Parts: sequence; C-alpha cells; structure tokens
Amino acid sequence: MHHRPLIWMAIVGSLLLIMGLSLSGPKESNPPTPSELAQAAPDEGAPEAAIDSTRDADPVETAQSEPPWNDFIVREGDNLSLIFSRAGFTDTDLFRVANGNNGRSLKRIYPGETIGFQSNAEGDLLALRHQQSPLLTTTYIRDHDLFIATDETREPDRIARDVSMTIDSSLFLAGTDAGLSDAMIMELAGIFGGVIDFVLDPRAGDTIHVLYEELMLDGARFDDGPILAASFTNRGETFEAYRYTDSEGDTSYYNELGVSMRKAFLLAPLDFTRVSSNFNPNRLHPIYKTHKPHRGTDYAAPRGTPVYATGSGRVIEAGYTRPNGNYVFIQHGEQFETHYLHLHRLRVKKGARVKQGDIIGTVGSTGAATGPHLHYEFLVNGVHRNPRTVHKILPKARSLPEEELPRYLASIRQPTRQLASLRNAKHLALAE
Ligand SMILES: [Zn+2]
Repeated sequence: MHHRPLIWMAIVGSLLLIMGLSLSGPKESNPPTPSELAQAAPDEGAPEAAIDSTRDADPVETAQSEPPWNDFIVREGDNLSLIFSRAGFTDTDLFRVANGNNGRSLKRIYPGETIGFQSNAEGDLLALRHQQSPLLTTTYIRDHDLFIATDETREPDRIARDVSMTIDSSLFLAGTDAGLSDAMIMELAGIFGGVIDFVLDPRAGDTIHVLYEELMLDGARFDDGPILAASFTNRGETFEAYRYTDSEGDTSYYNELGVSMRKAFLLAPLDFTRVSSNFNPNRLHPIYKTHKPHRGTDYAAPRGTPVYATGSGRVIEAGYTRPNGNYVFIQHGEQFETHYLHLHRLRVKKGARVKQGDIIGTVGSTGAATGPHLHYEFLVNGVHRNPRTVHKILPKARSLPEEELPRYLASIRQPTRQLASLRNAKHLALAE
C-alpha cells in the first residue's frame, strides 16, 4: 500500500530532475553539473568554465593537467546523498565511493568541511576529495568500480612568540588585550591554578610573561600552539612554569626546581572568568559573614557560576540544611575535606567520585546567605583551616625524579633567561 505512491513520487521526481537539467540554462545558485561542464567545453577534457570560485586550481593551468575540482561546502543538515545530487551525481556513485575498500572518513561529514568532485568530459566521477580540516584531506580515486582512498596530512609551521601583560582589572582582560585567545588564557590559568587563586589573588600591577608557539599555515595564523614557559608575578612574588616532556613521554609543567605545577588542590573553587569581569568584586562588596564563627572563604559571584571540586575525591554529603542551603562535602584521601555551601544547584550525588576541576554545583544564595556567594571550607584531620593559606602546609607536589633533573634543567636554561629579560624590560618600561 505504502510504497506505490513512493515509487510514483520517485519516478515523477526523476523526470522533473532530468527535465530540469536539460531545459534550464546555467542556474544562478547551483554549481554546474557535469553535463553542463561538458557542454561548456566540448573538445577539452577540462572545461574552462570555472564557475565555482572555491576551486583552488587556476583554470588555465588545470586545462593542461587534470580535470578541475568542483567543490561543495557541507552545510548544516546536509548528508552525502544531498551533496552528491547537488554536484550532479547519483546514489550509485555515492555507494561506490563510500563502500569502496576504505571509504572510512566519508561516513562522517560535518558542516564547514569541503567535498570536491572531479569528473571526465562524459560526467563520470573520477575522484572525490574530502577536506576534513586544513591539515587533513582524503582523496578517493577511481580504480575501475572501486575508489581507493589516500590521506594527505599537513604540518603547520611553529613560530616562537612571547607576550607580556600587566593586570589592570583581571587576568582575562589583560590576556585579551595582549591578543591571547580565550583558550590560551584558560590554559595559563590552569597552569598556575595550584599556586594562584585567580579570583582573589591578582592585584593591579601583577605582571605575566608567556613564551608560546603559534601554528601557521600558508603564512597565516592557524591555531594556538602550546605555552612553553610562563611567569606570573603576584604582589612581588614570582612563580615560573616550564613545559617539559619527560623520558616516559608525559608532558607537564614544572617550576624552576622541577616541582610539578599540578597540585593536589586548586586554589580557586570556582570559574574565575565569571567573577573577574569587575575587578575583584570580593573587595568591592562587604564579605557576607553568614556563619559564626566564620571558618571559610566567601566568594561573591554571580548566581549560576560553576563551582569546581578543588581536588579529586568522593562526595560524602550532598543535600540541604537551613544554615548551609544546598551543600556538598568532599573527602580527599584520609586527611582532607572540602565543603561548598549555599549552592544554587547541585551537580553531584552522595557517593560520587569526582576529579579535580569537575563541576559539582553552581553559585547560589540558598540557606543562610544574604546574596549569591560560595562559602568554601577546607578541613585537615577534621579541623577547619584557612583555605587561602592551607596549600602551604599540604604535602609537596610531585617532583621530577633525580635522573630527569639534568635534562630538565638544561631544557629550561634558555626560556628562564628569556623570561627574566622580559621581566627586566617591563621594569625599565615602568621606570620611565
Ligand atoms: Zn561564609
């Protein structure tokens, strides 16, 4: 019952398509079909009708070497069948390419990618190329009834860069003003997240110097490369971090003595980018003294700001009480506990395992709170300690093993000098 109308629709549709192809002239919005291309240049295998401006080859040059590529950008909601028909090819062609011996990458296409078609004068598909990124293109070349895929990968050029910035209002604004991407600023904050609380610590006049790589493709910026080294001077105290790949192949950041920058606890229990838009609201507004005695640190922050587990561990309490509002307690190993109060929403349940940096809830004003803020507590062996200074009494972070140190220290000699000279230049500039 149901397939007869479908068959008719298909037949009528095909007829309309064929009529459309033969009756209409060159369409304004559609790229040329193979038959149109063939008509445009009857005596040459490579027509000069370069209608598609996305083609990367020069038409004159192409005429001498190979048939031109007709490129299509994958749009939202596209599938291969749609793109093939837009290019003037059939599902049979698609089947041959996708189900050839290795049509693997063609099974997944994403908006923004480019799919190019190459055909002969008769309109037969000769090759298809799928550009998945500027660094990876897969080309399927016809071999009888099969298409054989080959990958072509490119390596971007790495250019060494350095940048210096002074904090006026926040790390985020300083980084943005210096031309760093958001991702790079977050990476920078991540590197220093165990020694600096980016909500409460930064002061106007703090300086940051970064050595990093920029990835270039065909002479244009393509992407951020890694941060190679960075120094952060906070209220006169300088922290340095160096990227190092050890003999096991693990890459991490270490200070000038080879001590890991990755600490057991993050200093800031919440997303600093959400709090730093006005410089340090925690000093502009009175701190909410909602608990007596006050045994933690309060972070005034917009409702909904993500709250992180400062260390990995297990959720031992997650619930609601009148004074605490929505709250989460996390146990870290034998000795340590962290508490997060007045949350708007909880994102974890009692018993859950969490990793450092996991979002456990959002800032709110539930319970005995006069405004949206996070009340954060740190307990050592059941005793409340000041979370702002507790990192100084915590066990030392992992150091590079003895046998790694000589190679590490040699590798940081040059960047250490470079960071020092950037700091000196900054001092001179400020002195003038
Ligand atoms: Zn509090």
